[in-house]
Amino acid sequence: MREMDDPLGQAPLSIVATDEAGEPETPDAIFLAGGSRDWSLWAACRGCGGYALPLHVERREDWIDAAARAQSFLARVHHKTCLRCDARSRRFRRAPAEGAMWWDPEAGDWMMNGELPGGTRLTLPLDVNDYWSVPEAAAAAAALSTDGPAVRVVPGPELLDPQLPSIFHIADRWAMWLPCEDCGGCELPLREGGRLEAPSATAQAKRVVELAAAEGCPSCVAAMFQGGHLPPDTPALTWYDPIEDHWMLWQPVIGVPEGVTMPLGLSGFDVSRVAVEVKVEQLLFGDESLPPEAPA
Ligand SMILES: [Zn+2]
Ligand SMILES: [Zn+2]
Repeated sequence: MREMDDPLGQAPLSIVATDEAGEPETPDAIFLAGGSRDWSLWAACRGCGGYALPLHVERREDWIDAAARAQSFLARVHHKTCLRCDARSRRFRRAPAEGAMWWDPEAGDWMMNGELPGGTRLTLPLDVNDYWSVPEAAAAAAALSTDGPAVRVVPGPELLDPQLPSIFHIADRWAMWLPCEDCGGCELPLREGGRLEAPSATAQAKRVVELAAAEGCPSCVAAMFQGGHLPPDTPALTWYDPIEDHWMLWQPVIGVPEGVTMPLGLSGFDVSRVAVEVKVEQLLFGDESLPPEAPA
């Protein structure tokens, strides 16, 4: 059963007066913050004392919407990891920039790890003061995290501008749109991971843009090999198939005008070119590190 369908998870939360939220004995509860302006959740925690989270439900009579949003947040997030405890441990750990971002309830801001050119580690506020504005926080993180070509973060593929390199999160992974003046562009898979890994996905997308500028658009290159329109003296070449997410090796063969193509067993357009070369060596010349085949 999915958490959202669990009837217990849908049980009404207590509603407390504004001045009672945050008292040690108050459990998870919703309350009207700032008099009667806006519903907030009080997420209780024995470790850190808990924190308030605005729910973006303004009208007093919409308490049931506020409660539903609060229940979903408690089940999906807070009851797995308390965001305030998590933010505190991250602040003091000063982990290497791992490309994740997180909500700090005490700062009321999205944060990410950064590193100064000298190697000093620091925590960077993203200046997006709303827990629910994940795409905006991702875009801010992306802008801060790397230089190089501009890459946009968009909420989904339907919202991209086909002229601009963009990343979006879909089905538990990141993907990118790589524009191309000749073929229009193509979609490429990026790292697997959650929505909060936007900074790492952006860095990866920037590498892809740079590689495509140096080596040619993968979709155009793939179309050339798939169409078999190669000059007769073309040597063995590797190319990347963006539809199948596979690196391929093309070889000329006497008597076979279109040559022979075989998969290299590698995926990801931005995979190390050294790894591609090693695979080709193994395929063409055999891997001498393997033991000889046992006699049958
Ligand atoms: Zn806590
Ligand atoms: Zn192209």
